[in-house]
Amino acid sequence: MTCEVCGRAERERRLIRYSFSQGDHLTVVDHVPAEVCPNCGEVSLSPDVVERLQQTVWQQRAPARLIETPVYEFTS
Ligand SMILES: [Zn+2]
Repeated sequence: MTCEVCGRAERERRLIRYSFSQGDHLTVVDHVPAEVCPNCGEVSLSPDVVERLQQTVWQQRAPARLIETPVYEFTS
């Protein structure tokens, strides 16, 4: 499907790393199937993938692994 943000490229199916944060709590889900625009980088997830993602996180099972994440302040 043509990207509706830039209209210049066909979106490609890729497995991405999806991350979101609530306050200082960062959650990462690896290998999420998504459609990504190779031109502008717009990522779109299908409704069933979003639902599966929420289930995965809300079930709050032990994560597959833990990663250490440095946090930087943007400096201009
Ligand atoms: Zn695009």
